[in-house]
Amino acid sequence: MKILEQGPGWSMEMICTGNGNGGAGCASKLLVEECDLFITGHGYMDGSFDHFVTFRCCNCGTETDVNVPHRIRNVLMKAHRERNGVAWSHLKSFPAN
Ligand SMILES: [Zn+2]
Repeated sequence: MKILEQGPGWSMEMICTGNGNGGAGCASKLLVEECDLFITGHGYMDGSFDHFVTFRCCNCGTETDVNVPHRIRNVLMKAHRERNGVAWSHLKSFPAN
């Protein structure tokens, strides 16, 4: 089946590159849907913290950071905050070394 007109559900073709996670992807071309994406956090030496939208390849298991539309990112971040409320505040207050 082909999508003639994209409905409310969102999907995007992505390549498994391992971008942001060591770069050792298997180069599979994947149709990634909103439910395949999750938020990962990268902490830095100065104590700051960045969030990335990530998917895990169903072929090799490598995680790849991707750019998605703001709407998708916002939905994912909201879910992430709700799910990890405690862990989130813990990370935010984690002391820099
Ligand atoms: Zn892969």
